[in-house]
Parts: sequence; structure tokens; C-alpha cells
Amino acid sequence: MDTQLLIGSTFVAGTEAEEHILNPKTGATIIDLAEASHSQIDAAVDAAERAFATWSLTTPAERSGYLLRIADAIEKHADDFAALEALNCGKPINAVRNDELPAIIDCWRFFAGAIRSMHAPVAGEYLPGHTSMVRRDAVGIVGSIAPWNYPLMMMAWKLAPAIAGGNTVVFKPSEQTPLTALKMARLLADILPEGVVNVILGRGDTVGNALINHPKIGMVSITGDIATGKKVLQAAAKTVKRTHLELGGKAPVIVYDDADLDAVVNGIRTFGYYNAGQDCTAACRIYAQDGIYEKLVADLTFAVSTIRFNDADDTVNEIGPLISSRQRDRVASFVERATEQKHIEITTGGHAGSTNGFFFQPTVVAGATQEDEIVRREVFGPVVSVTRFRADDEAVRWANDSDYGLASSVWTKDISKAMGTASRLQYGCTWINTHFMLTNEMPHGGVKQSGYGKDMSIYALEDYTAVRHIMINHG
Ligand code: NAD
Repeated sequence: MDTQLLIGSTFVAGTEAEEHILNPKTGATIIDLAEASHSQIDAAVDAAERAFATWSLTTPAERSGYLLRIADAIEKHADDFAALEALNCGKPINAVRNDELPAIIDCWRFFAGAIRSMHAPVAGEYLPGHTSMVRRDAVGIVGSIAPWNYPLMMMAWKLAPAIAGGNTVVFKPSEQTPLTALKMARLLADILPEGVVNVILGRGDTVGNALINHPKIGMVSITGDIATGKKVLQAAAKTVKRTHLELGGKAPVIVYDDADLDAVVNGIRTFGYYNAGQDCTAACRIYAQDGIYEKLVADLTFAVSTIRFNDADDTVNEIGPLISSRQRDRVASFVERATEQKHIEITTGGHAGSTNGFFFQPTVVAGATQEDEIVRREVFGPVVSVTRFRADDEAVRWANDSDYGLASSVWTKDISKAMGTASRLQYGCTWINTHFMLTNEMPHGGVKQSGYGKDMSIYALEDYTAVRHIMINHG
């Protein structure tokens, strides 16, 4: 198992406080890892600064070649990466191997192609006697900070567009899930020039805080909680850093009376509970119209009660545990407080698992109203609320009545109604008759307090590069 930080081309152990890296399925410690010291963080930033001088001058074709080699190397070791991610996150092995790894490899390949075909306004004489052209250049050193829910995928989403754009990076994985990032560090050190990517370990309020406040960091990219995003903004204000924020979500799912009920139930069973609901786009906040509400609750309750988890044969598991006992207890307390409301009924699930692992039963919370905490706050667990609405407008109003604005979906057979609703939803993404489906060609990112950085797609490359105007006086 790889355990060391990558600073320049050197692998070193952290020298500060140790963090227990746990197996969420059992609660047992996998390994203890020490976090980086201030001087190690400085050394990583200095290595990135030295690398920037040459990396930022490489051609798109050269950088593309590196990204393709990284993709090939991940593909070659896909089984090992999947096993390690499953161990550290408690994910079912099939989900990591068959869903996540192909998307991760494709992300590297997408940016390898995209960096060679960026677009801008045509060069021309917009003032007589002067030729103007637009460039897109690297921003500088990116401080990149990832969450625990999809460690290897977040690393791909952050690193691929950053280094494709000519930037160099100091990357910090979540302190809870660093194992695949440490394995990636070995792979990246074999392929990339020294210092283009550096990987450091540590907690948010120590190592993360030092990184976001570092004067040489030109851009901070973070996926995490809204509260963490606000801290990044405060730190960024000191030296006016560029920021790329991917924060939480509370996705509304509007189900009209004429929706295909089986498709809705199957969709929510999959997209509401995938990764044990630890997903910022999880289909967790259902608004069901009056005519379909009762049948939807009944069918969804049955469907969710059949979700396989914590089976000794991991290949049959559909979801895993939560990442930590803290996260499990947090989810349990949301459900407990919901249960205290007389109008709410827990129709299936509702309790933590009985083993040492951090499992929580897949749960349906029926009869929730717009004012309930379970409808308003991000639970980040396998818990879906269902709220009844009557008039079409009510659903859109309630869906938009949220601090979050990441993802949403609309379910109806009437495509005009779907398009009208989609146009009025204040979300970075609206799916129609599906949910949760991502593709590397399309942007992922929010509005409102869900943040504004775009991952994947050409828009991520735009976020990680600066637009510059060059004007030539013909003289
Ligand atoms: P978190 O904000 O606690 O941590 C995310 C990362 O930020 C970790 O690496 C952590 O160490 C670091 N961090 C924490 N405090 C910091 C600080 N003061 N300075 C610098 N870095 C700091 O979030 P989490 O619990 O790891 O992840 C769950 C959250 O992430 C949820 O809110 C979820 O919705 C969100 N998320 C969003 C997206 C998206 O695309 N919008 C994707 C995944 C997760």
C-alpha cells in the first residue's frame, strides 16, 4: 500500500498528527497516516512553482499525450484501484469497478482531446490598424481539495482539466479517503515531469487551511461542504485567488401525475441510494403530485426495502455503509428528528445497522412537508423524503425554495410540461425522466450556494484557464 506524500519527485512520510484510515464496513483501522507539516506543504508548493515554468510552456499535444498515458495506466491497474477504493470507502466492488473506473478513465481521455480543440472569438482587426487575438493561458498553481465520497473520481475531475490547461497542482485528498490518491501519486510520478502534481495529506483545518491561504497558490478548487466553501472564499479574498467551488446539493425530483410510475420507482431506488446517498446529486427530495403520491410511496417503500447491503458476498451488494460513525450518527439524528413529526411516516428503514460497520438502512420518509428539516437540509445518507403537491406551480416553487442549486429532475410523459418545468428550475442540471446520469462532455456544477465551478466538459477547461487579449498595433 502506498502511504507517502509526493513532493516534486520525492516520496516522503508526513511528519505531523496521525489519522486512522478506517474500513467503513467493519470500523477497523486499515492504516495510520501522518499529515504534512507546514514545511512539507511549502515544499510541495515550491515544487509546483518550479514545474510551472516549463509545464505551462508545453504544447496542448504534449499535455494530451501525458493525459492519455495516465488514462492507460489507470486502466491497466483498474482492478487494484477499484479494490483499494472499495476498501477505503466501503463501496460495493462492482459499483467502483464497473461504474466509477470507466468514467474516471474516460475523464482523463476527454480532457486529453478537449485541450487540443478549445475555441475563442476569431482574431481580427476590431480597431483599424490593430489585430486582436484571444489566448487561454494557465492560471498558475492550483490548490486542489477533494471530498470523501468519490475520491478517485474527484481527483480525475480536478487534476485532468487543471494540468491539461497548463497549470501545476498541489492536491489534498480527504483525510478519510486518501488511499487511492496515494496510489495515483506513484503512477503520476512515473509519467509526469517532476512537480506537475504534488500530493499531500492532512485534515481540512490544518493542511487544507494552509493550502487555501498559501500566497503562491493562484487558484483553489474544492469539492465539499458549503461551510468549507465559505472558508475558501474568505481565504481567497486575501490575495484575490481564483476559486472553483463544488458544494453540496439537495436534489428535488418532481413527479407529475402522468409520469411512468415504474420508471420513477426504479429511478429513485437507484439514484436516491447510490453510494449510500453520499452524493451531492442524490435524488433525495421527492415532490409527488396528488394523483400518484399514494402508489409512489407504496411502490417505492417496497422497492427500497429490497436494496441489498452488508451482504457477506459483496458482489450482490448495491450500496455500502456511510463513510464514518460520525456520518452514520448524523444521518440517524436527521431521521430521528423527522420521526418526531406527527405528519411524517418512516415507511421502510430508519435505523443504523447492527454491526460494527457504519451502515444505515435505506430509508423512505413519507408525508414530509416543505418546512421540515428533512426536506431542507442535506442528509448525505440513504434517506429519501416524499412530499405531496397539488398544483404544478407548487412543485417548482418548493423545488426552488432552497439554498442549494446543483441537480434536479422532472418526471412526466408530457415533454412540453417537462421542458417548461426545466426552464424554471434554478439548478445546474435538470434531468427529464432520469436522474444522476453524468457524461464527461457535459458540465457538472451548481448555482446558488451549491457553488459555481464546473467539472467535466469544456467549461471545466475554461474554469482552469485565464482568458487573455493580445493586441498588435500595425504601426
Ligand atoms: P468537507 O467540506 O468537510 O471536506 C471536503 C474537503 O475539504 C476535505 O478534503 C477536507 O479536508 C477539506 N476541508 C475541510 N475544511 C477545510 C478548511 N477549513 N480549509 C481547507 N480545506 C478544508 O466535505 P466532505 O464531508 O468531505 O464532503 C461532503 C460534502 O461535499 C457534502 O456537502 C457534499 O454535498 C459535497 N460534495 C459536493 C459535490 C459537488 O460536485 N458539488 C461532490 C461531492 C461532494
